[in-house]
Amino acid sequence: MRTPQLRQALSAPSLLHTARQCFLEIPDDPSCDIPLVDHLMAGLALFGLKYPSLLQFDEDRRAGTTQANLRALYGIEQAPCDTRFRERLDEVDPRALRSLYRHLFSQLQRGKGLEGFSYLDGHYLLSLDGTGYFSSSKVHCAQCGEKHHRNGTLTFYHQMLGAVLVHPDCKEVIPLAPEPILKQDGAKKNDCERNAAKRLLMDLRREHPHLKLVCFRQPCVDRDLRRTTMYVRRPASPQNYLIPAQVFSAGHDKPIPL
Ligand SMILES: [Zn+2]
Repeated sequence: MRTPQLRQALSAPSLLHTARQCFLEIPDDPSCDIPLVDHLMAGLALFGLKYPSLLQFDEDRRAGTTQANLRALYGIEQAPCDTRFRERLDEVDPRALRSLYRHLFSQLQRGKGLEGFSYLDGHYLLSLDGTGYFSSSKVHCAQCGEKHHRNGTLTFYHQMLGAVLVHPDCKEVIPLAPEPILKQDGAKKNDCERNAAKRLLMDLRREHPHLKLVCFRQPCVDRDLRRTTMYVRRPASPQNYLIPAQVFSAGHDKPIPL
């Protein structure tokens, strides 16, 4: 598969500029000393600069080289301290970040970055998988999932459902907006991966109504989505993950011959 050439719109400075513009749209409290956009860009820098931990980033943020990189690439004049960083990012509704994923995906489409990713009859392969990113027996919030153990102890957790476009011949993947698996407002029951998948696919369909997708997922989604999204029955073995043994065309219950 041909590696897409680096195009100006897809260069790091251009993508980071898009990120900053999208973050600026998120409502902020003007009385805060460091604007929310800089907290969000610092979150991006943490991963972009490949820091192994938030602690390491916190220790380095005032060092000359790091400060220069944060200013030049991420537009951050003053990086927030560890505690403030967590507090302010905790307040951000994950849905507010969807527009960034949408804009970056459009940029990728315009820059022909999706070339070579289509796999089956012009469809893109969409892989969904859940992952945990927080677990504690003490610290918790109203949106925490709760796991009650047999010995009477309780674990609080947060998970999310990741979504990426994949291609068997390409080691890179194209991430789409993930869906948090959180206890919904006022709900007594835990949220689950299945419900998160429904929300994720509904949002994806609304934001990309013409994107042809084959989804690696059991047909747990609503009928409306099944009419527009092909799906693959999940293979039993992870090694076969990218071999669509059974592909179902949109709106049909019988597999289509490959
Ligand atoms: Zn929580």
